[in-house]
Amino acid sequence: MLKGKTALVTGSTSGIGLGIAKSLARQGANIVLNGFGDIDAPKAAIAGLGVKVAYHGADMSKPSEIADMMAFAASEMGRVDILVNNAGIQHVARIESFPVDKWDAIIAINLSSAFHATRLALPAMQAANWGRIINVASAHGLVGSPEKSAYVAAKHGIVGLTKVTALENATSGVTCNAICPGWVLTPLVQKQVDARAVAQGISNEEAQKQLLGEKEPSMQFTTPEELGELAVFFCSPAGNNVRGVAWNMDGGWVAQ
Ligand code: NAD
Repeated sequence: MLKGKTALVTGSTSGIGLGIAKSLARQGANIVLNGFGDIDAPKAAIAGLGVKVAYHGADMSKPSEIADMMAFAASEMGRVDILVNNAGIQHVARIESFPVDKWDAIIAINLSSAFHATRLALPAMQAANWGRIINVASAHGLVGSPEKSAYVAAKHGIVGLTKVTALENATSGVTCNAICPGWVLTPLVQKQVDARAVAQGISNEEAQKQLLGEKEPSMQFTTPEELGELAVFFCSPAGNNVRGVAWNMDGGWVAQ
């Protein structure tokens, strides 16, 4: 379905980003990966799906590196048809003790990076009259939780950015939508499970159950594969007129 198209997925060396990159590659899209840590295994996994793969290590907190990445993607692959703004970090603390540098980093990586990548991707998508921008928000883009001020502010912000991007391009073939996962057992959440297990002297399994029990009636983690298939739907012809939605895949979290 996506043969000949190119998808750039930020923060795709791990977790949800890698899951989405694999799902898009299975549909034939060439992939530009981004993120930190081990690069070889994610690159090999995408190449193994029979598509072209490239990697750029831009730090998504730095607008000049984002600009380099967008130029690199265009020169390597011709054009970015699908942009998935996924890179994100978390820090947990009450507002009065929230470190200012963590606030700045979360707003830069989880919100401003999507603005920069989007503004740089749009002209080529508009010229081609086809494009898909998919913002990975969160259930925390729709509801709040204590001790996550920066994250919740950034994720509500990205839901707003999604709506404006969709509206400004509503008469064209360029759509923009957000995905709002509940808990997904990636390194980002594993850190929160580990912290809870240590703080309460409980097993990892018990900490996972507690985390799910507080928020998700389904008592199940959403998987990167499931989120990848939602991204594929947004890129499909059936997604042509889906514009500006914030689609939660969260085991019932925000239905309560
Ligand atoms: P993860 O830690 O597994 O992956 C994060 C990715 O972002 C990695 O590839 C990492 O290298 C990259 N990254 C981090 N800082 C970066 C930077 N400055 N520049 C470039 N890349 C950077 O986390 P994940 O759970 O897969 O999270 C991916 C997205 O999904 C995030 O936006 C997160 O907020 C969102 N999300 C996660 C969950 C969850 O339960 N895991 C739920 C809702 C939303």
